[in-house]
Amino acid sequence: MASTPEALAQAQLEWDTPLYRMAVAQFDQAVSFADIPDGIAERLRFPERALMVSVPVRMDDGRRVVFPGYRVQHSSVLGPTKGGIRYDHDVTLGECAALAMWMTWKCSLLRLPYGGAKGGVRCDPRSLSSAELERLTRRYTSELLPVIGPQEDIPAPDMATNEQTMAWMMDTYSMQRGYAVPEIVTGKPISIGGSVFRHEATGVGVVMVVARACDRLGWRLEEQRCVVQGFGNVGGIAALELHEHGARVVAVSDVSGGLNAEGGLDVPALQAYAREHGSLEGNEAGSRLTNEELLELDCDILVLAAREDQITAENAPRLRARMIAEGANGPTSLEADAILNARGVPVLPDILTNAGGVTVSYFEWVQDLGRLFWTRDEIRAKLAEKLSDAFDRVWDLAEDRGTSLRTAALVAGIRDVSEALEARGIFP
Ligand code: GLU
Repeated sequence: MASTPEALAQAQLEWDTPLYRMAVAQFDQAVSFADIPDGIAERLRFPERALMVSVPVRMDDGRRVVFPGYRVQHSSVLGPTKGGIRYDHDVTLGECAALAMWMTWKCSLLRLPYGGAKGGVRCDPRSLSSAELERLTRRYTSELLPVIGPQEDIPAPDMATNEQTMAWMMDTYSMQRGYAVPEIVTGKPISIGGSVFRHEATGVGVVMVVARACDRLGWRLEEQRCVVQGFGNVGGIAALELHEHGARVVAVSDVSGGLNAEGGLDVPALQAYAREHGSLEGNEAGSRLTNEELLELDCDILVLAAREDQITAENAPRLRARMIAEGANGPTSLEADAILNARGVPVLPDILTNAGGVTVSYFEWVQDLGRLFWTRDEIRAKLAEKLSDAFDRVWDLAEDRGTSLRTAALVAGIRDVSEALEARGIFP
């Protein structure tokens, strides 16, 4: 039985943020095509569980600062929950809830035996020293101990977290257990049970999906002019991979702004520069432009690999890209989606396009549980197989039902979770 609109509004109060509203609106749009029972849809509209914590940290100058932290688990129907931990000034309960819901559809679309989760700490990670980040991570992990576990909820990197963050989390958890538990997190350093190819997996996966879309559209990837917003673990690696496929990367951006060179940027040189200087600040390989200008450049493929809420009703009509690939989660608003759809610009949706990360996270977890390790080539081949299978299902469903690729991806993800939930039933 569906809730009354008033009950729904009440129940949503805690999650109510623009991003969660967007995740639910996308869900509702997809549900109208997915043909699932109302009661099941109603249950999936809300996360199963959320934990809010206060994380006290001793700063280098002796002050104590308390940071708000969260972990939201959206669905445990298909298995343990899975998803990243982000450190960012915008982290809230509602943002984590939206991102956790998208993780559920992403895992289900890729046929991984997981549900979605997301967590994070609201802070300005760039202003924290490495020692402060370590203390913050260890205390946050201790606060999460009641809800995480290799069979319960498995964290991974997300915005501003990386292999080192995961190593601190794994160590904190293992010290409580009294033995090494590598399978508690994914995206760890290889030396403690991380997987080869996990570091590159999200960025390379983005390009695998773009390549597949080009094939379907009859475009040659090596003839495309690409713009990449974001130059971190996703955008930096996607740009490199595009460059290696022979495509021309005409602009990239990071926190310091954008760089544009019509003749194409030397991406490996930019990578080396960013590694040495911490960002692209001060680089003169092309003309400088703002992030907003970069999004509106004339190009074939625009890769959004920075953060959510980048393409809105305001700038969507001015975009000149012929195709958009979402490396970040939630970069395109609902209104922007409708505008791009009406203009016939394909948007390769986040839950498919950036799923390389969680897919190789799954491979990492399986390797850890089995105490066995696969080669890079094996993992790359398994990833390509998983992504092509999901891509084909999404593309064909969109064609069959006349929906956008996003709606098709959501329908495919939602249907499998719904079927599992119907089979299991709602307890008690
Ligand atoms: N944070 C990544 C995502 O949003 C990876 C999650 C994971 O590997 O569990 O998909």
